[in-house]
Amino acid sequence: METEWKQQIETLREILVNSERLVFLGGAGVSTESGIPDYRSASGLYNQDSGEFYSGATILSHSFFMKHPDIFYRYYKGKLIHKEAKPNRAHEVLANLEADNHVSLIITQNIDGLHELAGSKLVYDIHGNMYRNYCIDCNKEYELDYIINTEKEVPRCNVCGGIIRPDVVLYEEGLDSELLQDAIRKISLADTMLVGGTSLEVNPARGLVQYFTGKNLVFINLEATGMDQWATMIIRGKIGEVLDATGL
Ligand code: NAD
Ligand code: ZN
Repeated sequence: METEWKQQIETLREILVNSERLVFLGGAGVSTESGIPDYRSASGLYNQDSGEFYSGATILSHSFFMKHPDIFYRYYKGKLIHKEAKPNRAHEVLANLEADNHVSLIITQNIDGLHELAGSKLVYDIHGNMYRNYCIDCNKEYELDYIINTEKEVPRCNVCGGIIRPDVVLYEEGLDSELLQDAIRKISLADTMLVGGTSLEVNPARGLVQYFTGKNLVFINLEATGMDQWATMIIRGKIGEVLDATGL
């Protein structure tokens, strides 16, 4: 059962190497093999004790950040920042495919920056990136190390004293619409769309899949997703192991 997907690898490999405009859409499951928990799985962050009076989903909202930046940062630093995490074979194979001109875009819902660390350049972090941070009053930019190393509960701007926030999309906040429009354009021109490590329960990921009109819509996910009926190929396995098995 566990290795049932091995019979699908040759077909998957063929699809990948014959793609000229592959779009990848990934979520938290792409980084679990790098040691970063996802949100909604049994072992995910939302099923763990947040360690706070509030739930993780409450803490990660815009209004909560504005009201209780101290609690936000305690949770964010303790549970969401994984600076030690390294790219796994999923990130690496996608970077290799890009280097060989098979990829037109990688869209990730993750904020961990692991695709960039693996060497991918064509990346849209539609939920932001924890390596980018800025002062909410004067917009001065700060690196992640400034957030990690500050002794204060809430990191403050060294120019104006304003609160620094991560450039990540919190609940209640909108996404960058120009980035999304361009992602949609690339999806509609793609010959292959590979979707992995995402439950497709959160928009806009769900909506994005519907713009694909190309040949191969491949899902690699441990569990069923809400959109499996759209896929032309479904692989039930760990995305790092599966992509590693292609030898790419
Ligand atoms: P999710 O937690 O809703 O779903 C993750 C999915 O990945 C699940 O369906 C699970 O079965 C699957 N999965 C887990 N490990 C896998 C693996 N090794 N191979 C294949 N599939 C695997 O995550 P989501 O849909 O991405 O949405 C949650 C939101 O949380 C996203 O917006 C994302 O920004 C954020 N998030 C980010 C990170 C990160 O930056 N690494 C981590 C957790 C959550
Ligand atoms: Zn400032």
